[in-house]
Amino acid sequence: MKLQAARFVLIGDDLYRRGYTRPLLKCFTPDQASYVVRELHEGICGTHSGARTMVAKVVRAGYYWPTVQGDCTDFVQKCLKCQEFGTLSHQKPEELHFMLSPWAFVQWGMDIIGPFAPGKGQCKFLLVGIDYFTKWIEAEPLTAITARNVQNFMWKNIVSASAFHRSSSPITVDSSPTGR
Ligand SMILES: [Zn+2]
Repeated sequence: MKLQAARFVLIGDDLYRRGYTRPLLKCFTPDQASYVVRELHEGICGTHSGARTMVAKVVRAGYYWPTVQGDCTDFVQKCLKCQEFGTLSHQKPEELHFMLSPWAFVQWGMDIIGPFAPGKGQCKFLLVGIDYFTKWIEAEPLTAITARNVQNFMWKNIVSASAFHRSSSPITVDSSPTGR
């Protein structure tokens, strides 16, 4: 009892829970707690978030009650809207397949970033190559994305680096459209 009481402190009429790494958390009565849970989940600013997020929000706001974890989990499980509109994964459970590169400079990823506001020499694109294994980055600012420019970049930065280590390197290119 004494040990448990040491975790709490009374300031004025309010009970607070002490912590080593966090500020004092104000303790709630069951009524207050259920209101907070409801408001957090489906209130004006409620986003029907999951239990873990809700608990984090309660603690971040500086509140505490002993069953906060269980109450949030219960509430989320019983929320009708979450059951109706929640994302249901129809994907079969399967083990993850790692896409690992066995050695340095064996596999590269490439992407074009931009257009940015024109910089020095009117360069507004950035051509980036990154090695899967070491995460070594080669990058070059370009004025325009042309086949010639990309070819030069590959020869200068990637083929030479790879040739030094191995004869051929597969290159993965992010083909999603550039620009915003
Ligand atoms: Zn919900």
